[in-house]
Amino acid sequence: MTTPDMFPAGKHQPEIVAFEPTRRAGLERLAKFASRTGAHYAGQRNYDFGSQNRSSVSALSPWIKHRLITEEDVLTQTLAHHSLSASMKFVQEVFWRSYFKGWMEQHPSVWHGYLSDLEIAFEKLEKNRFYKTDYDEAIEGRTGIDCFDHWCEELKTTGYLHNHARMWFASIWIFTLRLPWQLGADFFLSHLIDGDPAANTLSWRWVGGLHTKGKTYLARPSNIAQFTDGRFEPVNQLSSTSMPLVEDIDHPFVPLSSPQPLPQGSYMLLVTSEDCQPETFITGSQVGVLGLVSPGPPTQNTQVHAFAKGAATDATARSGQGTATVSTVQDWSDILIDAAHKAGTNQIVTPMAALGPVATQLALVKGTLKQAGIELHQHQRTYDTLTWPHATKGFFKLKKKIPNLLKDLGFTDV
Ligand SMILES: Cc1cc2nc3c(=O)[nH]c(=O)nc-3n(C[C@H](O)[C@H](O)[C@H](O)COP(=O)(O)OP(=O)(O)OC[C@H]3O[C@@H](n4cnc5c(N)ncnc54)[C@H](O)[C@@H]3O)c2cc1C
Repeated sequence: MTTPDMFPAGKHQPEIVAFEPTRRAGLERLAKFASRTGAHYAGQRNYDFGSQNRSSVSALSPWIKHRLITEEDVLTQTLAHHSLSASMKFVQEVFWRSYFKGWMEQHPSVWHGYLSDLEIAFEKLEKNRFYKTDYDEAIEGRTGIDCFDHWCEELKTTGYLHNHARMWFASIWIFTLRLPWQLGADFFLSHLIDGDPAANTLSWRWVGGLHTKGKTYLARPSNIAQFTDGRFEPVNQLSSTSMPLVEDIDHPFVPLSSPQPLPQGSYMLLVTSEDCQPETFITGSQVGVLGLVSPGPPTQNTQVHAFAKGAATDATARSGQGTATVSTVQDWSDILIDAAHKAGTNQIVTPMAALGPVATQLALVKGTLKQAGIELHQHQRTYDTLTWPHATKGFFKLKKKIPNLLKDLGFTDV
């Protein structure tokens, strides 16, 4: 079961990851990294060697976010190479994602509050010239803080940043530049190919001291120097204090709704960019398939949209119906009604969309579809059904459950 860790030849060896939106490309990257999910990952994961060398981390997040490869795919390959104890650090990171998804789903006001605060922050920008200048300098990488300006450019060109760079960037944004965290989170969501409402919003809140209340993350020059391998050391440029952000709302806990079984009879499959591997858990009398991707906000980087569209196209093609198409219309109602009629069914099944733009689209069309006599069913993955209920408080609660969760997911050897 244990294979030796495949240490790359050295930290100066180039290892560029091309983010191609197909399941095949995701599986190839997973196959390359799986042997490194043990001691290599535990020892190297905090190092950010830059976009030319991604060897320290998996860089799988764009594929996982769109579920071109799933958490279970990743865990299967990890545990085929290492014991759970040897790969625990990596496995925990995979479950951090599940934690954030589940926690957000049970505290939806965090997402809705973020969206309305973001609107207010943009309005304020328009009214205050000085404030707008600071914001423009930050998003254009013109702050004069070399590392920050570099990450800004790296994010825009590659659509990805190492986790440590994300933490430093968010910390500098909030505590040094003193810009609202919501504007920074929006900047990330517009440019990250793995941009995820839960992981992104909650990570920004975590850095600012809103998620684990009162506990902030402060970026320090010496830490940046160590983990960028000496590429940057912003001495005397960063705030040396980080007063936790506060908010005057206590986000209420909302219980998860119970997952429903797949409906009987024929259905049309709707593929969205939320889950690009529906064939593994939605099976039955499928009589048609349609892929839909939202056009995205005007601020969205074109490569983010291209990845989402490419991912949905890949999934739709794999779903086996010859006439598969992916549309990017704003209003999904007419195209869904038309496609269901053409397929000769009054049922549409789609993978459940967690809180975010796709869930909003689905909520918007549900009523119109009902009026047209069409039922929309969102089907939940067993992985989410099992993990999300443990994401009610801090990560520790879910972390303790990892061995049991793996057993429940069918990993018998852990
Ligand atoms: C401010 C900020 C914003 C972030 N925004 C996002 C986002 O929009 N989308 C996103 O997927 N992640 C986000 N993260 C979490 C994390 O940075 C990325 O998941 C990670 O860097 C992806 O790189 P990787 O695939 O090489 O990760 P690896 O270290 O190789 O980890 C493997 C997988 O585990 C999951 N994972 C790892 N670390 C985390 C984490 N801290 N939180 C949640 N899941 C994790 C990811 O799915 C990742 O692909 C954010 C973190 C911060 C600090």
